[in-house]
Amino acid sequence: MSDTDPANWGFDTLAIHAGAAPDPATGARQVPIYQTTAYVFKDAAHAARLFGLQEVGYIYSRLTNPTVSALQTRLAQLESGAGAICCSSGHAAQILALFPLMGPGKNIVASTRLYGGTITQFSQTIKRFGWGAKFVDLDDLEALRAAVDGDTRAIFCESISNPGGYVTDIPAVAKIATELGLPLIVDNTLATPWLCKPIEMGATLVVHSLTKYITGNGTVTGGVVIDSGTFDWSASDKFLSLSQPEPAYHGLNFHQAFGNLAYTFHGIAVSMRDLGMTMNPQGAHYTLMGIETLGLRMEKHVANAGKVAEWLQNDPRVTSVTYAGLASSPWNATAKRVYPKGAGALFTFSIKGGYDAAVKLVDSLKLFSHVANLGDARSLVIHSASTTHSQLSDAQKIAAGAGPDVVRLSIGIEDADDLIADLDQALAAASG
Ligand SMILES: *Cc1c(COP(=O)(O)O)cnc(C)c1O
Repeated sequence: MSDTDPANWGFDTLAIHAGAAPDPATGARQVPIYQTTAYVFKDAAHAARLFGLQEVGYIYSRLTNPTVSALQTRLAQLESGAGAICCSSGHAAQILALFPLMGPGKNIVASTRLYGGTITQFSQTIKRFGWGAKFVDLDDLEALRAAVDGDTRAIFCESISNPGGYVTDIPAVAKIATELGLPLIVDNTLATPWLCKPIEMGATLVVHSLTKYITGNGTVTGGVVIDSGTFDWSASDKFLSLSQPEPAYHGLNFHQAFGNLAYTFHGIAVSMRDLGMTMNPQGAHYTLMGIETLGLRMEKHVANAGKVAEWLQNDPRVTSVTYAGLASSPWNATAKRVYPKGAGALFTFSIKGGYDAAVKLVDSLKLFSHVANLGDARSLVIHSASTTHSQLSDAQKIAAGAGPDVVRLSIGIEDADDLIADLDQALAAASG
């Protein structure tokens, strides 16, 4: 292997080149936006081979599209996965990730520290499919072990978690998942593969909301499931859709037919075909553009977050700051070990004066945008208790780190001094 071998490329080279050879028809250097629904078959035999999955190719853009494929290849390589399936949103990615594994009466064991919408999806909405979820504090590995039962089909966590910016000890959780013969699914939205590659730490599947740092500028709603290709679906009788003839695909045995790509092929041929949560090629294009600068952006996000968190921590108007990158955080040792390049750029802080002061602060900020989003180049703020986490019970809010006096910041890539000046004047207004 030489230095120019793509297998040796570093993160920033892959972020620009993976999945993106010049277009064979035109030489176009950027990945074209293939704005087409269907693809002409060479002849009837070719069509039959594509439908039978004996040959890989494009049939219909609900399943696959060349622009979306380029993005899938890039994300799979950045996350050290074997394959990837893009979809319409981060929430769609979570359903897509679970679909091949679950069935009525089956459950997942999930972290208590998750994005508010994910807690609602898992505690309420998936019940309509007959699926269940049990929530445990993943800092307590024995509680995790105790929560798993014979119907458990996956363990789910976030690497760095929203809104608190807590960090999960992925290698420790992955070790238990392996012992129990279960796939570990990690939502890596807040860390991105620049800060953490869960597959290299033992995760089976990685999901992302591409809406956030990966696209990075607040223009796209998208999601992805990345398949490690390392899980043995046939080792138990738990994953029959993958290890036995699949009735939804004329009895094809995906594990036998596709080996380490069984999950990826099933995800496209069955889940995407029947659930239809497709990513559009225009969205894939914006996300490909965003990824080109992912490494540069994350470096600045993390540096800025460290400066702002440090400044807030030393301010008498502030009660506490959750950032795991601070030496004062109980998660700092885990953060340093598992996320050595930094603990992300999302965290919360509590302000003296409770709910009223928190709301006043949000209304007084000028440079920070008050929006329900994160991972944008712009710095963002939200009061989780009255917005993203409002549908949770008080106990769930506090468990998720979204109490009444808590304000969430998503630190952008502006000049840190300007962000601090804005926080300073808003804290003055809120405390006055
Ligand atoms: C935003 C987010 C989601 C949901 O993603 P959408 O693209 O909004 O559907 C899931 N997990 C995390 C950690 C998120 O931040």
